[in-house]
Amino acid sequence: MRCSGVVCSNAVMPERWRVEPGKPVRLESIDPSSTPGAPGGKAETVATLPAFHERLAALQERLWAEHRRSLLVVLQALDAGGKDGTVRHVFRGVNPQGTTVTSFKVPVGEEVEHDFLWRVHRAAPATGEIGIFNRSHYEDVLAVRVLGLAPEKVWKARYDLINAFEQTLHHGGTTIVKIYLHISKEEQRRRLQARLDDPDKRWKFSAADLEALRHWDEYREAYEDALVKTSTAIAPWYVIPADRKWYRNWVVSRILVKTLRRMDPRYPQPMEHLPATIE
Ligand code: ATP
Ligand code: MG
Repeated sequence: MRCSGVVCSNAVMPERWRVEPGKPVRLESIDPSSTPGAPGGKAETVATLPAFHERLAALQERLWAEHRRSLLVVLQALDAGGKDGTVRHVFRGVNPQGTTVTSFKVPVGEEVEHDFLWRVHRAAPATGEIGIFNRSHYEDVLAVRVLGLAPEKVWKARYDLINAFEQTLHHGGTTIVKIYLHISKEEQRRRLQARLDDPDKRWKFSAADLEALRHWDEYREAYEDALVKTSTAIAPWYVIPADRKWYRNWVVSRILVKTLRRMDPRYPQPMEHLPATIE
């Protein structure tokens, strides 16, 4: 049995990708193009996705109807890691009412005039909602660390602050799932090149993409630290091999369906003395 901080390799799906609290994570030991546990190749796996979309939609409807708890999905990846594609594919079919997506960019204006969690807390899902973070407060221990945007003493203190913040959300009824889409350097280069080559994708290309490629090793180290320091029982990280988009979509769908099933949201009791017919 192989165990590398990410749960042992023969563990059941999707737990095999969960980062065990406190255990070191070696991203190098996880092949980004691997597809363990998939029901088959691309075609067979993609064929199972509509069933997941239906389940996710049904569970979201109950979460919304129950209106007592919420689910926060944090998506992190390097540039071109597939966050947008994951949101597009996995949440296809869920009711936009009751789902919010927030993309976190370089902080500007009021955002820089407050503590780093201010903008994040404001975007946290309200009761009944699924909140999706496309990047998140983790940028403050990733990009900020790698690009030297704050002194070490500042970003180092943030792991504990993040854990306390997530504990606060949990205490308020939010279930938290954090997903790191793990792609290889070659795949990142390929996708960035595709952005340059395809006139319909060129708008997506930014100078920051090249920076990310240049700082590949530093980002890996920063991710490993963030994963080990902030994967907790109430807010676990999952590391998903994400070079193959179909596998990524399948695993993320499974994690979300499983998480919502565990939450088991219920329709509220109907009002007493319901009339049998509407006159
Ligand atoms: P894609 O993966 O498609 O390129 P994206 O999420 O990278 O999408 P962009 O607008 O290209 O979107 O980039 C957002 C940028 O904002 C990223 O480079 C990210 O590191 C940066 N960023 C987000 N939050 C912070 C933060 N708190 N401090 C510094 N940089 C941040
Ligand atoms: Mg980008």
